[in-house]
Amino acid sequence: MQGICLLGATGSIGQSTLDIIAQHPDKFTLVSASANESVEKMADICRRFQPQRVVMGSQQARDELARLCSDLSVSFEWGQEALESIAADNAVDQVMAAIMGFAGLKPTLAGIRAGKRTLLANKESLVTAGKLFMDEVTRHKVVLLPIDSEHNAIYQSLPQTALGAHKQDVSKIILTASGGPFREFSLDEMKAVTPAQACKHPNWSMGQKISIDSASLMNKGLELIEACWLFDVTPDEVDVVVHPESIIHSMVSYRDGSVIAQMGNPDMKIPIAYGMSWPERIETQVPPLSLIDVARLNFEAPDITRFPNLKLAADAWFMGGTAMAILNATNEIAVAAFLEERMGFLDIARLNEQVLASATVTQVHSLDDVFEADSMARQLALDIISRGFFA
Ligand code: NAD
Ligand code: MG
Repeated sequence: MQGICLLGATGSIGQSTLDIIAQHPDKFTLVSASANESVEKMADICRRFQPQRVVMGSQQARDELARLCSDLSVSFEWGQEALESIAADNAVDQVMAAIMGFAGLKPTLAGIRAGKRTLLANKESLVTAGKLFMDEVTRHKVVLLPIDSEHNAIYQSLPQTALGAHKQDVSKIILTASGGPFREFSLDEMKAVTPAQACKHPNWSMGQKISIDSASLMNKGLELIEACWLFDVTPDEVDVVVHPESIIHSMVSYRDGSVIAQMGNPDMKIPIAYGMSWPERIETQVPPLSLIDVARLNFEAPDITRFPNLKLAADAWFMGGTAMAILNATNEIAVAAFLEERMGFLDIARLNEQVLASATVTQVHSLDDVFEADSMARQLALDIISRGFFA
């Protein structure tokens, strides 16, 4: 029986993870769960799964939850320290890191430092802390399994000995992208798109932030950096290919000319179950892939003129140090401002570009450097927005 700590239980990945736990009560048990503010969703989780510990983002949310679930014997907690403590708890075997954004970094690292198997959905934590993050994984001999569907596909398509093994045989990683809802929009058409349009992903149902990132291709940019850290490559060794059907989740190209791909219906339960059951495989209740129904798979090159975020991510990688934390922080501010209709869709990439070009990039010696860069970039981005640069 594997004890699961589910960070970000009320989100899209969180709900799919609960679905897999519920399908396999003989294999998994929910030991602990966290959410920021969604009290009612969390109350429902507490009733269904009876975890030992639950952590909310604020005291008020904790108190409300405790009131709603006063008949249950769950320990209701709140705040950063509690979040880190549930990830490191003795009763936990696996941590599902499914918090949205940079907020996921510290609790994910807490699980790694406690040696827990880490199922990484929260790409922003790896993107921002990159080398430090991977060094901790190595130091604590942690099994790190990528849940992001592309990276999960790459992991499955690499030789199964260990991450980074047989590197000399790999010639390219081929990262597929759906292209998002605006794949065929002109720049002019993208100017006026609304948050609701941007959130409507053609193939995947996901949280708001990652949906906007998919529409702006920042998600693919973050995933490019994520792939570089996970598989020890540079952006030059990764080809991004737009594949609108999202059936091939990514590929690995080998020096003998072989290309190995992982395919499946676009449902996050597949990579989630893979991570939870690795090295075995379990049922997910995802309908089997019918290639005859899919009929055609299409591919095209990404257009960085319309989607500059993809290039910005590669630039940030080559700048190194805190550049990736700066880009990520700016993008989190940009997405929030777009969702609140304080700026337009194209301003997301403009803001990212401007802050990345003007912020001071330093080397990363410790986590403090990452946190400092994150706050500095957020402030810079907010200043630019409030000066009405985008008005
Ligand atoms: P979501 O917005 O649906 O859920 C986010 C979860 O994190 C919620 O439980 C929320 O309460 C919690 N949370 C948000 N802000 C927080 C904060 N400041 N402190 C503590 N908890 C906080 O997001 P999602 O779509 O499930 O995505 C979660 C992560 O997984 C993201 O990093 C995303 O990029 C990654 N991911 C998601 C998908 C997907 O299909 N949804 C696919 C690949 C990767
Ligand atoms: Mg992905």
